[in-house]
This record gives sequence, C-alpha cells and structure tokens, in this order.
Amino acid sequence: MSRRIVLLPGDGIGPEVVAATTKVLDAVGDFTYEEHLIGGAAIDATGTALPDETLAACRDADAVLLGAVGGPKWDSTDPGRPRPEQGLLGIRKGMELFANLRPVRPLTALLDASPLKRERIEGTDLVVVRELTGGMYFGRKERTADSALDENAYTRAEVERIARVAFRAARRKVTNVDKMNVLEVSRFWREVVLDVHAREFADVPLDHLLVDNASMQLINAPSEFDVILTDNMFGDILSDEAAMITGSIGMLPSASLGEEGRPGLFEPVHGSAPDIAGKGIANPLATILSGALLLRHGLGLSDEADAVESAVDRALERGLRTPDLGGDATTDQATQAVLEQL
Ligand code: NAD
Repeated sequence: MSRRIVLLPGDGIGPEVVAATTKVLDAVGDFTYEEHLIGGAAIDATGTALPDETLAACRDADAVLLGAVGGPKWDSTDPGRPRPEQGLLGIRKGMELFANLRPVRPLTALLDASPLKRERIEGTDLVVVRELTGGMYFGRKERTADSALDENAYTRAEVERIARVAFRAARRKVTNVDKMNVLEVSRFWREVVLDVHAREFADVPLDHLLVDNASMQLINAPSEFDVILTDNMFGDILSDEAAMITGSIGMLPSASLGEEGRPGLFEPVHGSAPDIAGKGIANPLATILSGALLLRHGLGLSDEADAVESAVDRALERGLRTPDLGGDATTDQATQAVLEQL
C-alpha cells in the first residue's frame, strides 16, 4: 500500500530541496504526496502561517516532510503581524511533536570541510534530543512599554517523556544538559531525569553538564558525546553549534517525533536561505537525509533509509560538492549524484 506523505515546501529554498528529496524517495519506494501551505507562502495565500487544513492533513498523514519557512519579506517587529515561524511552532504543537532528534555525524569525505580540526571531530556520532513543545518558547508572554517576560515552565510529564526518548536512543550514554546552578526549572528537570533513569533506565550510563560547559565540550571533544538530552531553548542553541561540526548546515537532517504511532515531521536544520533561493544551488543533502530519517523513524523502512544514507556518503566520496561545501554542483546535479548511487 502506498504511504501518504504530506509535503510542506514552505519558503525560499524549501521548495527546491523538497522537490529533490521526493525524487530520491521515489527511487526507493511507492509514496503518494499531498502538498500543503506553511510559513510565508501560507501567509500570502491565506493570512495565516498555519492554515487549519494544513494541520489537519499533517495529522492524517503517515509522515510529513518540511522544507523551511521565513524570509525578509515577512520580517517585522510588530507583534501583531503574522510571522512564518508561527507555522513551525504551531505545527510542532498541533502534531504534538515533543521530541526533536538531530543526529550529527561528520561524513568522512567532508572531514576537512569542518571549521574544526580533523583529529578533533573524527569519530563524532552524536544525537541532540531537544524538548520541543515546552519551556520558554511556549511559556506565557507579557509585554509592556518598559518590560517583557517569557515564562520558562516544564511539567513532570513533559520532562519524563523526552527523557524516555533520550534513554531509548542511547547507544553508549546520555548526557543531560541543564542550568541547575541557577534555574529552578533546571533543578526540577534534573530531578525528573534522575527519577526516570533510576526507575526505567538504570543500565544506561547518565552524566550531567551545565549548558555553558556543554557548549565548550561540544567543540573541545565532540566524539565524547552520544545522546545529549536538553530543553527547548538550550537544545535550539546546542544543536546549531553541533551543526558546525559537520562543516555545513546544508548537511544536517532532523526528526520531530510524538507519541508512538503518530506521524512525525522531518526537516532540514537549515532555514530558507533567502540569499540563495531560486538560484538552483541549494544543497539538498540535509533534506534528502531528513527523507532517510522519515523512512526510518516515520515509516519503519530501515533498509531504505540505510540505502539513502549510504548513497549520500558515496556521492560525497566521489566528489559531489555544492557551493556551500566549496564546490559548484547545482541542486539538480547533487540530486542526480545521489540517485546514481542508489
Ligand atoms: P539559513 O539557514 O536560512 O541560512 C544561513 C546561511 O546558510 C545562509 O548563508 C544560507 O545561504 C546558508 N544555507 C542554509 N541552508 C543551505 C543549503 N541547504 N544549501 C546551501 N546553503 C545553505 O538561516 P538564516 O539566514 O538565519 O535564516 C533565513 C530565514 O530562514 C529566516 O527567515 C529564518 O527565520 C528562517 N529559518 C527557518 C528555519 C526553519 O524553517 N526550520 C530555521 C532557521 C531559520
């Protein structure tokens, strides 16, 4: 039976990299696609960044593939204007995607593209598990002429379920990252993580780092990490920092998951790259690799996911380089190079 994938191309390079990815998915399986609006494109067409019918279609799908949203056209400091990012926050909340997984694994062929020394990053294979629907980004907001407030709150249930995702994803250990020396919410977070660990995952090694130290260790010794478990805001920052280990943000995929049996959302870590949109030179590999995560975590097709990932590895080994990696391959040429290896 053909599996139903909802496509949310979004803005900027989003449509270019999503189109590249459906070509790759079609080479490994039989899928039907349904395209819907999100972000700036949705604001232009409907006045809102996340139309109801988009959310309904996503909840109904087997999996969702997203490009990126946003761009200067919709930038505004007026809190009353709709913003493309509301589409992202809204869909995460609406699909109850509380866990964001960002694998960071520098590909051998790209070791020298990283701003870090080769010997420092060799052997890195980590996953940032970020809580995605709680904390400061979703807390109560207040604004007066002279002050502003973003509330940072977590419930026990929210911390427990993200901790479970992290412990299940662990191969060697889990490193919990918080700021418990300063924040009450972090002291609570750590207490709940320790509790879940003791009750359900006592056999998984667990350590803890304060977020400031973690941000240094990630550069100093990235290969020491396996699973990094952290909250919404710290995870946002640390996963972009981890992104630089691979040398290009154009390489990093992500998976956002909810409760088991519900559709997940798969998207590249990068944004809509307005500076290169429409030029046909966007690196499609982060989205193609997100397609691999979709196959594995979204549809349970592990062999197909492995095939896509190793085709990307081989294409790079044979010299594929888009401009962000120092080469001159176009989006189409990069897609063809991956297809040839499948
Ligand atoms: P960005 O990731 O869009 O771009 C940062 C830099 O990386 C740019 O120079 C861009 O050209 C380059 N880049 C990004 N993806 C690339 C790719 N696939 N191939 C080659 N080069 C690539 O981040 P930004 O410039 O901070 O944000 C641009 C817009 O995207 C903003 O409106 C922002 O809000 C939005 N954004 C969206 C998401 C998302 O949809 N998930 C994430 C981050 C930013």
